[in-house]
Order: sequence, then structure tokens, then C-alpha cells
Amino acid sequence: MVWGCSFIPLGRFINRDASIGADEPHNDGVPIVLTASVIEMSDFNLNPFIAFTGGFPSKIIPIKILRKYWYPITPNNDDGGARFAPYGLRKIEALLIEEFGEDNVATCTPYNLGKFVGPKTKAVGISTMDPLGIGFVSRTYTSLVGFGDEPLAAAEFRNLMKRRIWKRHKPKIIVGGSGAWQIVRGNMQDRYGINTVMIGEGDRSALEIFRNAMNDEPLPKIVETEKPELEEIPTIKKPALFGVVEITRGCGKGCQFCSPTMRTRYSFPLGKIKKEAELNARAGSRMIVLQTDDIFLYKCGERFVPNRQAIVELIETVAKIPNVEYLQPAHAALPPVACDSKMIEEIAPTLVEKSRWRYNGKKVASVEVGIETGSVRLIEKHMRGKPLPYEAKDWCEVVTQAVGILNDNDICPLATLVVGLPGEEEKDTLATMELVDKLKGAKLFYVPLFFTSEEECLLGDARQADLHHLTDLHWDFFATCWKYNIKLWAPDKQGKIAMGSMFLYMLYYRWKHGAKVAQPIMQLTDFPRSLLKVRSGTQHRHHEPAKPDSSSRM
Ligand code: SF4
Repeated sequence: MVWGCSFIPLGRFINRDASIGADEPHNDGVPIVLTASVIEMSDFNLNPFIAFTGGFPSKIIPIKILRKYWYPITPNNDDGGARFAPYGLRKIEALLIEEFGEDNVATCTPYNLGKFVGPKTKAVGISTMDPLGIGFVSRTYTSLVGFGDEPLAAAEFRNLMKRRIWKRHKPKIIVGGSGAWQIVRGNMQDRYGINTVMIGEGDRSALEIFRNAMNDEPLPKIVETEKPELEEIPTIKKPALFGVVEITRGCGKGCQFCSPTMRTRYSFPLGKIKKEAELNARAGSRMIVLQTDDIFLYKCGERFVPNRQAIVELIETVAKIPNVEYLQPAHAALPPVACDSKMIEEIAPTLVEKSRWRYNGKKVASVEVGIETGSVRLIEKHMRGKPLPYEAKDWCEVVTQAVGILNDNDICPLATLVVGLPGEEEKDTLATMELVDKLKGAKLFYVPLFFTSEEECLLGDARQADLHHLTDLHWDFFATCWKYNIKLWAPDKQGKIAMGSMFLYMLYYRWKHGAKVAQPIMQLTDFPRSLLKVRSGTQHRHHEPAKPDSSSRM
């Protein structure tokens, strides 16, 4: 990974000039301008999975290099507007174009604000997913890495908010998107000069705020938006980054740390999905990402039993759209996989054919899944609905079976695990480690994360997990997951990673985190087992992933 290329925080010296485009208006400006930070205006070279690196520290590699090679910004149209933009921004744009007309709404990258923001600009809408870098991934990996300053996503958002152009023309600044809650929690609204923070779905409430801004009427400081009806959710008019098309919204399984479950569950009509996918493909997007919190929610039955016919029809319809080279579902749940393996057999060939991922030279598909924990106790406490249509007690069996079915069909999932859920005890972490042990030999990529209490969820007030609460067992768990990932996905880089980790330990981590990280780092780097100190409770679990084998099945 590029993160291993430089351990010196060069960015501290080089990032001073983070200017992003000229601030001189070329004309009087457009009444409504929509934008997002430089990193959120990139498709990461068409790789949605590495977009999570926005949560990594910003001052390890110079930001100018990252902007050029890691998250190059979307190109411009002839008029200077952004060719692709975040999907949520495109939804709001569609509403605003309907109301105010296309000439009065422009969506551009931060580099081109000077072309569109001027004396006539009344409102600027900014969409953001992680403005302060306190989402799940950012909190976890910025604190684990421990140096390199704030997360990239936060640095880029700050760069956008400090643009002089806002002060010069004084448009009303309205910020929304899935990370908008962070601005309120971090008490940054005034410091960033934001007039309104919109929390929640914008489809019903955004229009009124922009109307008020256009009429120079006062704006509310914080708006908790109203839930839209299905018919109120617009169809995008211009193409989205990653070729995103929303297929479902909401979930309804009620996991207490999850915000999508607070939304009403909808499956969008196939005609609308197709129209948006065709729009993206026509505009040159080689990829279509099916945006959903679980693809198997699409037109699902009672107790979340998947609707095989509808899923197969959805995949086949989108895959047949001309110019769609890659088709990527955003998320999937594991219980429907265990529930209907035939469905996976039917959709897998298309997903593999339309995948851009390879394992050992062979095409494989991937999708993000949530394992979260191996503790039945925590499943019952915080995620009772997650195993449906199965029972909480069946969770570990469901996970191992489902991962096996996916692997058998050449689908290698990326699996999140949550550390530090409220009420978590050592026995829960051990149960998760046992589940990871049972998955030995499976082809998946683990992403262990700290529990984060997002504003819009039932555990919004719960204490968040962080570095200070990590026990020896937690460190062991993180090391186990990453050792597994490296052995499976980057075996040829194992030596370099081992050397780098030991170097960092000697130089930095033992001062930063103390002696408790010694054993996890040795474990990660495959330091000779005989030299590992015996430690009660965790010594018995140093998982050796089996050499992956294409026929492996747990
Ligand atoms: S199953 Fe996933 S999307 Fe649904 S509530 Fe739980 S975490 Fe959220």
C-alpha cells in the first residue's frame, strides 16, 4: 500500500499551500452552486474500496501527490461543471433544477468555484461524508497509525471551508450529507462559517432551505430533515461518481449503531434504477455501483427473506446496459446468502464477469459485508435483527456458511468487525476471535473498526471506543485480522511490511502505545513464535491463516 512508502511526515512541510483553485470570479456567478471537497469529488481511479483511505492520516504523504495519483479529481465539462459528482449531491441538484431551472444551478469541483461563485450567488450546498474525520474508519486508523495528523477527509474539508471566496461573496453555506452530524458534534459550524447544517435525508427538506436562501430569508442553523415518501425522491439528472445508482434505502433490521436503519425502507422501481444507470453509462462511467445497505433487501419478503427473482432481474438488467464494464454492489448481508445459495449461484457469474478485482490472476467479485462480532450476546443486545431470517444464536454458523457460499462462487467479501461495542467484555472479543478462527482459509478481507456513535442512531449517546480503551486482547485481535489480510492478499509484500512495522515499533510505537503493542506487532510481522512472551487469555490464539486454496470452503 502507498501508506508504506514514506514514514516521514513530509506533508508537514509541503502541505502549506493547499490552495485549490483560483478564487477570482470570472462572471457574476450562478445563484446556487453545489460542491464537495477535493477528496469527495474523486472516484479514486474508479476504486470504491480504497475510498475508505480518506480516513487515513493526511501528513504522511504530501497531499499534492495524493491528489494527483491517489484521488485525482473528476474531470470538468466544457462549461467548467463537474463531469461526475457525489450521488447525494446529484439528488439535491435534481430537485433544485426542477425548481429553479438548469441555468440557476451549477455543480463544480473546488478547483472551479471561481467560475461559478460570484456576487449573484445566493447559496452554496456542500455535501460531505466525513468532514471532521470522526467516522468509523477515520477514528480507527488515524489513531492506530498514531502520527500524520488529521484524516485526509478532514484536511480536505477544512481546505474547502477556508476558501476566501466565501468571505468575498458571502453566499449562504448549507452543508448536508451522511457526515453532516460531525460538524454539530465537533462544534465547528461557526468556525467554518456554515449557515445551515442539514442532518438526514435531503429529498423532502432541502428545497425549502434553498428557497429561503434565494429569497434572502433567515435560515435555521440546524435542520433535522423529514423522511421523504418514495415519490419525493428525485431521479438524478447528471452523472454520479462511481456510476452510483441507489437501489434501496433504509434497512429496518434495527442495529443500534447504524444510521441507515433509521430511514424508511424503500426498494426503487427497476425503471428508475435503469434510467439512472443508463445516464451514468452514457456519460462515460465504466462502473455502476448499486448503492444499498444490503443488496438482498431489494424487494425482499417477510423477515428479510431475499427475493431471488427480483435480485436476478436487477443484476441482469443493469449488467446489460451498454458500456457497463464493471458492476459493483455496495453492501450485502450474510444471512440471505445462507438462506438462498441458489440465488448466489445465479448472480455470481455476472458479478464476476463484471468485476474489476482479481485473486491469484483469476477474476473474483467482492462486496462489503458486516460480520461485526462473533458474540451472540452482543448480537442479542445490539443487533437482534441482523441475523434474520435466522435467530441470534445461529449467527456464527450463518456467517461461516454464507462466506463459504460466496467463496464457492468466486465472491471474496470485505468484512467489517466492530471493536468496543457498549457493554463488550473480554468473552465477547474472544468469541469474535473464535469466529475469525473458524473462518481460517476463507477468502475475505477484514476491516476491524472502533465502535463509533454516529448522531443518527440509537447508540448516538453511547461512549465511543478509542485507543485508550483497547485491551491487550483488542490489540491481538487487530493484529490477527491484519496478519490474515496481508498473508492472503499481499503475501509477496509480507517481508517489507514486517520490516517496516518492526522499524516503526522501535522508532515510535513503543513510545506512543507502550509495551502492549510489542506482541501484536511481532505477531503481525511473524516474529518467531518462541520469542513471544506467554500471556494469559490471549496466548493460545495466534491464528495462522491456512494457505488459501481456490477450492477452500469453511
Ligand atoms: S443490517 Fe446493516 S444496514 Fe441493517 S441495520 Fe444492521 S448494520 Fe444497519
